[in-house]
Amino acid sequence: MKIDVFTLFPEWFDWFGTQRHARNVFERGTELRFFNYRDTTPLGGGQVDDAPYGGGAGMVLRVDVVDAALRAAYEDGREPSRTILLAPSGRQLDEALATELSVEPHVALLCGRYEGVDERIRDQLVSDAVSVGPYVLSGGELAAMVVVDAVMRKLPGALGHAESAVEESFSEALGGAPEYPHYTRPASYRGWQVPEVLVSGDHARVREWRLEQSRKRATAAPER
Ligand code: SAH
Repeated sequence: MKIDVFTLFPEWFDWFGTQRHARNVFERGTELRFFNYRDTTPLGGGQVDDAPYGGGAGMVLRVDVVDAALRAAYEDGREPSRTILLAPSGRQLDEALATELSVEPHVALLCGRYEGVDERIRDQLVSDAVSVGPYVLSGGELAAMVVVDAVMRKLPGALGHAESAVEESFSEALGGAPEYPHYTRPASYRGWQVPEVLVSGDHARVREWRLEQSRKRATAAPER
């Protein structure tokens, strides 16, 4: 899979590629590339934004600047299968969308900044818009990292154990419910006991208990 991130701050991503699951998928051929709008802007002095028509606060990322960045990146004709704008008003990221993206051969993620981006970018240059939640970040960079992280976990070899990704929160294996709780040693700590069933050695009961816990979490509002 190829993932291209368009941003004004590629250095924000420096640490990102050093995580274990990122390195695992890079070793297996996944490519993560960065493109800085400022490197290809057709405007003088590295300009990328402008004041909004109609007035108002803040600056807006220009459509010609983003178009130039995309054209430069894909002048070889190898266009992405999905070109996604990060936007608070986009389709909210969930496990289903992460899975959907993980089977795309080539995804481009466009980070906005400032007050936002010229609407013609959304209308003309991208295939969809994705939000990481109903709140406003100061730029698309953290949102892009969230998307890339959620997608990369799903790629073969990302996690140490292939099974870890199968039965996870919101996965099909759990009927879309959150994952069941995990416990590890010690079995008793300050009087806090691990549920008896987990140390019973009865696999069928463990399985039943886990599915029940997962279902409970799906229906109950989180207490903490
Ligand atoms: N004025 C805009 C917010 C701009 S925030 C509004 O009110 O909707 C600047 C940039 O950060 C956006 O262009 C987008 O790329 C990114 N961004 C902010 N919050 C986001 C979110 N929840 N999901 C995805 N991207 C977000």
